[in-house]
Amino acid sequence: MADVLVIGGGAAGCMAAIWAARAGCKVTLWEKKDRLGRKLAITGKGRCNVTNAAPVDELIRNIPGNGRFMHSSFAAFDNLAVMDFFEELGVPLKVERGQRVFPQSDRAADVTEALAAELLRQKVRICYNTSARHLLFRDGALVGAVSTRGERETAAAVILACGGATYQATGSNGDGYKLAAEAGHTVIEPLPALVPLVSNDEWVAECSGLSLRNVELKLYKHGQVGKKQLLDSGFGEMLFTHFGISGPLVLTASRKAAIFWRDNPGAPILALINLKPALSAEQLAQRLERDFAAAPKRHLHNALEELLPKSLIEPFIRLAGLAADRAVNTLLHREKAEIVRLMQALPVNLCGTRSLNEGIVTCGGVSVKEVEPKTFASKKCGGLYIVGELLDVDALTGGYNLQVAFSSGRAAGLAAAEAAKTI
Ligand SMILES: Cc1cc2nc3c(=O)[nH]c(=O)nc-3n(C[C@H](O)[C@H](O)[C@H](O)COP(=O)(O)OP(=O)(O)OC[C@H]3O[C@@H](n4cnc5c(N)ncnc54)[C@H](O)[C@@H]3O)c2cc1C
Repeated sequence: MADVLVIGGGAAGCMAAIWAARAGCKVTLWEKKDRLGRKLAITGKGRCNVTNAAPVDELIRNIPGNGRFMHSSFAAFDNLAVMDFFEELGVPLKVERGQRVFPQSDRAADVTEALAAELLRQKVRICYNTSARHLLFRDGALVGAVSTRGERETAAAVILACGGATYQATGSNGDGYKLAAEAGHTVIEPLPALVPLVSNDEWVAECSGLSLRNVELKLYKHGQVGKKQLLDSGFGEMLFTHFGISGPLVLTASRKAAIFWRDNPGAPILALINLKPALSAEQLAQRLERDFAAAPKRHLHNALEELLPKSLIEPFIRLAGLAADRAVNTLLHREKAEIVRLMQALPVNLCGTRSLNEGIVTCGGVSVKEVEPKTFASKKCGGLYIVGELLDVDALTGGYNLQVAFSSGRAAGLAAAEAAKTI
């Protein structure tokens, strides 16, 4: 019998197991895959953005999915503590643009290897290829878990750290929701967040591979432009793909889009891209006039080369309803006004997100109302703790999701150890 059984050897589960063992408990860790931290190993494009060095209030602001729930555990183990933790384990870190923290080596594997080495040092018993099928109850009380192969592990405390339901090949395939539901928990419908968005507009696919920098993106509900319909807006970088749009700006906006589509299935969202957000419409019109006056006989296609990326010019001219070989000095006032308008509101009709599996993080999960924020103890089932992405907590990109996993994992590990010792 273990004092503490941790189910799931990802970021949160490894952290929980390490701290429960450091607190003097006998810990068993079940990991469904043949190694620990498969998702962790692909984070940050293989570099692992372990946390973010911004002040804690800012971390919370970057966690749109129940960030405030994380206050207590961040107070006990914040981003600086996470950084100290990894440096003490022999992973020197560096802070990059946007306060993102990475291993100096740029190797996510250094993070997973450091966690694995510490688990070994703390004598955590790791069972690989062991997938929890059910929680084990005796006389209504939680006493452990049963694996898909029928192995039983009894423990005084069980920590569920099975992750969300994205990138399922890494092991986090939504098992945790079923296990939490067995203990009486409410699971808020899991949706993909930080996920690309789908468009059936043909010109979008034609532009596949094109990335735009310093643009503004606005999403409008029901395809209607208006203050009340504005779903999200932001500045930054985005990308056209064969299925729609992606890139940092789109990923950030995608959470609100996913929630809108959950509540309004089949309804359209209109994205408007401002390609020249630094200029007013008037300034842009003047710029266009100047360019056109400098070479009045140029074809429209060539004249737009200074203003638009090459692969966007043809679709852009079509959207404007013009011919590419029009000499610019033949353009009517209203045609030039339309060019200006489109440059500041290029429309992309959106019809959905890519699949749950393609989200970087899951929005939704175990309701935080049913979990203690200091200890991550279940309010529904004694002896159960729930941590990491399995909870209805999700953040933007920048290292915040791993901070959630590490802080919640540590808090639950220590609390479970404390509880196990008193039993
Ligand atoms: C491509 C990508 C890049 C990302 N980059 C970053 C980044 O740079 N920075 C950042 O902060 N966040 C990043 N994230 C998000 C971050 O990886 C997750 O939020 C974080 O890993 C969640 O940790 P977790 O321990 O809760 O879940 P996971 O890391 O998913 O771990 C869950 C573990 O539980 C195991 N498991 C599942 N079911 C069972 C079962 N029934 N029995 C036993 N074991 C089970 C799984 O195999 C898995 O190992 C990224 C995500 C993706 C997909």
